[in-house]
Order: sequence, then C-alpha cells, then structure tokens
Amino acid sequence: MRDETKCIRSGYTPKNGEPGVMPIVQSTTYVFDTAEQIGDLFNFPNAHMYSRFSNPTVECVEKKIADLEGGVGAMCTSSGQMASLMSVLNLCRAGDSIISAPTIYGGTINLFAVTLKKLGIECIFVDADDDEEKIDAAFADNTRLVFGETLANPALSVFDIEKFARIAHRHGVPLIIDNTFATPILCKPFDFGADIVVHSTTKYMDGHALQGGGVIVDSGKFNWANGKFPEFTEPDESYHGFVYTEKFGSAAYIGKARMQLMRDFGAYPSAHSAFLLNLGLETLAVRMDRYCENAMKVAEFLSRHPMVETVRYPGLKGDKYHALAEKYMPKGSSGVISFDVKGGRGPAEKFMDSLRMASREVHVADIRTCVLHPASMTHRQLTDEQLVAAGINAGMVRLSVGLENCDDIIEDLDKALSSLSSKGE
Ligand SMILES: *Cc1c(COP(=O)(O)O)cnc(C)c1O
Repeated sequence: MRDETKCIRSGYTPKNGEPGVMPIVQSTTYVFDTAEQIGDLFNFPNAHMYSRFSNPTVECVEKKIADLEGGVGAMCTSSGQMASLMSVLNLCRAGDSIISAPTIYGGTINLFAVTLKKLGIECIFVDADDDEEKIDAAFADNTRLVFGETLANPALSVFDIEKFARIAHRHGVPLIIDNTFATPILCKPFDFGADIVVHSTTKYMDGHALQGGGVIVDSGKFNWANGKFPEFTEPDESYHGFVYTEKFGSAAYIGKARMQLMRDFGAYPSAHSAFLLNLGLETLAVRMDRYCENAMKVAEFLSRHPMVETVRYPGLKGDKYHALAEKYMPKGSSGVISFDVKGGRGPAEKFMDSLRMASREVHVADIRTCVLHPASMTHRQLTDEQLVAAGINAGMVRLSVGLENCDDIIEDLDKALSSLSSKGE
C-alpha cells in the first residue's frame, strides 16, 4: 500500500460484522478464562493485560504509524517529550552518554542538557554540519546513541541522516531521529539508515491541536547483540529472566521499551486520545501535500518582502539546506517557515500583534496558521549561546502555515509586515 492508503487502511482491519471505524476500547482491564492464561501473559505478553502499557485502540494507531514509517513496531506515549525520554532511557543508565545535534526542539535540549544530566546521563552536542572526523571525536566508550531531528524546530536545518547513520554505526550505536516536522509522508528516516524514530504526534499527525502525544518506532534493523547492549541479550530479572532479543526478535527495542519503561512509568495515552490521533492520521498524507504547497508560496512571498531580513525554508532554492531537503524531503519541507523580521525583537513582536487572522499560540503544525516568537517563548530558557547553536535570532518568527486559503494567509502577513514599515521607517 502507498502512504495515502496506509493513512486510511493500516492498523485496523474489521472482520465480518465488526465496526467499520476503529472502536474506542475504554477499558483498563482484559478478562481471561483461567488464571493460568493470565500467568502465561506475564511470561510472554501476546495479549492486552492492563492499559498502563497497552490497549487495543492505541495498538491500532501504533500499527498504522509503524507501517507508515516502515518499522517493525511502535509504542505511543502521552507526549512527544516522553517519546524522546523513553527512546533514550531504553538504552542508557547513569554513567552513559549520548550525542545530539543542538539543532533540535527547545524542550528536547532542556531534557538532554539539564534533566538527563540529573539522572547521570551526559549529552554531548555536536555541530551537525561538521565533518565526520570531528563528530567521530565526540564518541567515547560510554556513548550509547546519536540523536537528531530531520527538520529542526525551529531552526529548519535539515539533518544529514545518512551521514549520521554511518557515523553512529561505525561506533556500534543506533541513530534516533525525531521525525516530527517531516512526518513519514515527507521523509522516512529508516530508508536512510536511522534505527529508531520518535515523533511528537501533537503536531502534524494529530494536526488539529486537539491533544498531545508521542510515539517511538523501531526499524527492527539494529543489532542489539553487538556486545554494547547487554540489557537486550541478558535476562531481565525485573521481568522473570526475560531476554528481549530472544522473545521479541527484531522488535526487541520496542518490546523492551514497553515491558520495562512503560510498565514502570505508565505514560501511555488513553484509548480516546488514540482515537482522535487516528482521525488526524487518516488525512495526514493529504494535509502534508497542501501544507507544503501553501508554505512554498508563503516562503516565496516572504523572501520578496522588504520588511523581511531572511527566510528559512529548505524548500526554497538558495536555502542553505536546499540540497539536503531535496534528498530527504523531495515532496516538500512541511508548513513551517522561520524568518527574521527586519529590526529584531521589537518589530518581530509588533508584527505578531498586528496579525488579524494567524493565531498567536505556542503551537505548530496546526490546520490554523499560527505564529510564535522562539526567543521570548519556547526557547526563553536557553542561554544566548544555546540560542545561537539552536539557530535562533532575537527577531526570528516561527510561522506555521495552515490550510486556510493561501491568499488569505499571504494578505494577513502582508498587512502586518507593511504596518511595520509605515510606523518604523
Ligand atoms: C513539540 C515537539 C516535541 C515535544 O512534543 P510534545 O508533544 O510537546 O511533548 C518534540 N520534538 C519536536 C520536533 C517538537 O516539535
């Protein structure tokens, strides 16, 4: 099946006489005929037992997303942040380290640089555009994984997945990609050698700003028995001596994440959340197409506007990351555009306040066009140094182009920008 079809058909296939639409299984528990059957479940979890870590409705969505990414399994989480955290904790313990690009979501920088540090896990940030030898030098014996974002929020740099897969594999560790902005419709990181993908489903996948969520997807391709990951190949005493690579085979990573981390932390979405997420997923392919089309027109308009200093949209010819975007996202580079308003912070804020249709909100990837000022909002906890490393200027506006008529979007932006020049100059 192709992506448009997977969005609609994957994950739930009703049998004779069953509901045509994926049902909401609103139940924490599952009932069995005998005590022995439940006992067996603890030995091998091949049915739902308790909704802290699995549920039939959520499972349908997990299967759909795994299918879209081309993975062997997926696990939904209650937020994108939890997906990123669990993707790391599934491989690391105190004393370990990870390598990440600094051009990632601000919340992830905080999670990696501050919170993981408190847990004894160190994050070493490397410039993603550096050459391979320089990045190689950041690896140590305790390095457990490499992390990057396909299309960075909000710097809109494109991550060279193949280069980093090559480097990570040379050091015997997996590459984890946050594919939130690209979605599997625009980029499939597993095709370029990534091993694990995470998403904030809160963004394009949900698409309607209804509810937060995340997901981790397992490519099934990484060899966990390479000697660096004994937790996968040796008996887990917290789980009846379970050996993940034996029991789950190629899906060892996602199986371990569920049976250890989700069991212990329980950050699992509700069936109702999964149902809403599925509604978004059904139209994901169609929406991504239109987002890209609208954003391209808006980016071209902005790049011609006298009140705009610079526009970052990898789909634009001349953008620093255009060549990488052509390689990794040939169908388009999403609906998100970053641009610097002439004059910096003050004019950027004035521009935002002058918009009449676009929403000022802490969100992105909504059907509604929305704007945000990273330096004073999502990224205000970062130091100036971190801001620069994350690719953010004080006058930068992050614009998430929605699915309204594109002429209305452009008119709104044009009026707000033009009001700056008449007042300011
Ligand atoms: C929003 C976002 C996250 C965090 O997801 P939440 O659902 O808000 O927890 C992670 N990565 C990227 C790229 C994001 O845009």
